[in-house]
Amino acid sequence: MRDISILSSILKRINRKGYKAYKDIEGIYTLGGGILLEVLHAQGDPFASPSKIRIKIPIEKTSFPRELFNSPVRKIAFQDYILRVFAKHISRLSKLRGTGKSGLYFVDAGKQKILLRSDCTIKNEHLEIRFTCGLPARGRSILADVAEDMLCREIPHAASQIRWDLFNKEEAAEFVNTAEDAEYIREQLPSKGIVSFIADGSILPRSSGVHDTPLKNAVVFKSPDTLKVSFKTLHHGEIVGMGIPEGVTLIVGGGFHGKSTLLSAIEQGIYLHIPKDGREWVVTLSSAVKVRSEDGRYIEGVDISPFINNLPNRADTHFFCTENASGSTSVAAAIMEALEMKAKVLLLDEDTTATNFLIRDARMQRLIEKEREPITPFIDRVRELYQNYRVSTVMVVGGAGDYLDVADTVIAMDAYIPKDYTKKAKEIAIQMPVDRVKEPVQPLSIPAPRIMLPESFTVRKSHKIRSKGLKEIIFGTEVIDVSFVEQIVDDSQLRAVAEIIRHLSKKKHFKGMAQELKDIEERIASEGFDWLTKHPVFGLAFVRSFEVASSLNRMRTLRVKTGEGRR
Ligand code: ADP
Ligand code: MG
Repeated sequence: MRDISILSSILKRINRKGYKAYKDIEGIYTLGGGILLEVLHAQGDPFASPSKIRIKIPIEKTSFPRELFNSPVRKIAFQDYILRVFAKHISRLSKLRGTGKSGLYFVDAGKQKILLRSDCTIKNEHLEIRFTCGLPARGRSILADVAEDMLCREIPHAASQIRWDLFNKEEAAEFVNTAEDAEYIREQLPSKGIVSFIADGSILPRSSGVHDTPLKNAVVFKSPDTLKVSFKTLHHGEIVGMGIPEGVTLIVGGGFHGKSTLLSAIEQGIYLHIPKDGREWVVTLSSAVKVRSEDGRYIEGVDISPFINNLPNRADTHFFCTENASGSTSVAAAIMEALEMKAKVLLLDEDTTATNFLIRDARMQRLIEKEREPITPFIDRVRELYQNYRVSTVMVVGGAGDYLDVADTVIAMDAYIPKDYTKKAKEIAIQMPVDRVKEPVQPLSIPAPRIMLPESFTVRKSHKIRSKGLKEIIFGTEVIDVSFVEQIVDDSQLRAVAEIIRHLSKKKHFKGMAQELKDIEERIASEGFDWLTKHPVFGLAFVRSFEVASSLNRMRTLRVKTGEGRR
């Protein structure tokens, strides 16, 4: 370890030299007060991925009160908060000062969600913050004085701002307390027989399709009396709102009345939200999975036979493989994959689910005899899933009234306000019976574990992994299209999935996919991300095993076998 003054002298020596000379500054420097600055990786040219820096600050120097990080959820929230504060300080100093990324800072801080992130951790009595910066150059010629400004002044200054006496104490406490109370509500959901909770006063709609911030002047959420539940929280008193019971729940209502908005808030309720997001008190069981149709997706070795049988091309639907799924086969696969991963709640929106998968009405049943219809519609499975496996369903249905027969709870959205229509729906179901016959079906069984084969993984050591928006994971020639995996919410989660894939690619033997991925999820929750690779990782965020599985299931090189030994 060398004093930061050594860094200054190295920079003076390499001034105006070729960019590669920046390699000389890699190493650890002391900033005084026990604070360390490490240049882990100096980029190869001004346009390359920016250089990797971390700072380590002894906790005692920060005077952070221990109670802000004395439980797993409080620690996740406080770390996330610190990274936002650091990002605020350093981004003020970020400005283009030369070629390519010269002079810019990049901090992977969160937006509306609170997540465990690789780039801010409290461990072994130290706070560690990771970020990247563009080392400055004109053309390829090193600008040492600018680099000195950045590394020896700006970064140490930003690091010095990470002290409790300079923090907004109320804001920090509220951030952490909100996360803790929301997580507490999540833990309480099963004991109340609820799969999702939406507090009164929540703001569900977002400002636009591309912005996750709350819509201004939105109608605030208010629960119908009959579905009201309340939670006594530690920091926010009693929180009252709508509980969606276990079982089969329909969200009905006219077009544009807020059905899909409610469902997507429920989907996102698996995450913690920041205060003032509007959804910080929308809390869903963490085993809830959104499923939908996705024409053209890849499917590998999934048993979709509970929903699809006797395809005209005689394809084996017990071990179904396709490069190009249809609307109905894709949603059938998504459901079976979710069940394989032990999902306990399925979320569906009629808008994004093939109609022929949802329902075959009485007239169609009469017109096309069962032997000629490969699809067993979801309506004939949805109760069974709950009765036999305790898998609940929450689905938006505006058009398919036959579902009234199979629902436990019916919530009608009326100008963005939910009403409990359960009683009314039951009455109508009795008054207006449909002569649809429940299709005679074999009992559904939860799919056998699929075991990934090593040849699935084409990623090589030299491959760079990139993510493109929230849409694609790219490595080598492989592109995984995850644009329809709607519960992936942050780029950093895609990078985490990519690192998990890289980790899996080194393995020779696999357990069942669910077990394999749950083990990884648990290890990340307890140890963070660094164990995935030999080097400290940057820019990763927590992602559930469900989304990792969804990504792997869309990877076109995936090959699996099942206990029955096919393939
Ligand atoms: P549906 O699925 O019932 O057709 P959506 O959920 O798509 O309706 O909502 C229709 C529109 O209304 C969207 O533009 C959405 O942003 C807006 N919206 C939803 N909820 C609210 C609300 N509580 N206040 C104001 N606007 C809302
Ligand atoms: Mg809709």
